[in-house]
Amino acid sequence: MSCEHSKDCVYYRTHLYKSNSRQSRFLVDSYCEGTLHSRCRRLHYKTEFCKEAPDDLAPNGYLVGTHKKLRVENTRKFERYKIKNGACMLQVLGTKKTFSAWIVDIGEGGVRFELSIHPKELEICPEKSLLRILGYSIEAIPFPITKEVVKPVWQNNQVMGCSFA
Ligand code: SF4
Repeated sequence: MSCEHSKDCVYYRTHLYKSNSRQSRFLVDSYCEGTLHSRCRRLHYKTEFCKEAPDDLAPNGYLVGTHKKLRVENTRKFERYKIKNGACMLQVLGTKKTFSAWIVDIGEGGVRFELSIHPKELEICPEKSLLRILGYSIEAIPFPITKEVVKPVWQNNQVMGCSFA
């Protein structure tokens, strides 16, 4: 199963044909064209910082050709807040489909949800689906959510990282 972001992904386009690098091939096989794409650090970076990941960030979180992980502390654009008991109600935009989820953490750039059922059953397709936050437990969130529409960026089973649209 290929990553849905591969068409526009700098890393994928750059490393797909680097057949002389075993490590690049391994990462492309396991993340971009394999089953690990929901764990790709490039996607997590995008949700977390609301911008594209640096070109040399590999999907495993290491900088290409090094044994160094990207230091993210100083590049964090928005503070993230872990949320307890952040129940919310979501709607698949343009449909009547609603479902409940938990807000796991949130920042001004995006939000991470834990869904009660698998996104496949809801037919949510990251890239194509937009979700509307219909309601949430106000006391659990440190600031009012001003943008109600979010775009799924990555998904790992029932956990979904979204950026505000
Ligand atoms: S898994 Fe990550 S690196 Fe690979 S195509 Fe998707 S976004 Fe790009």
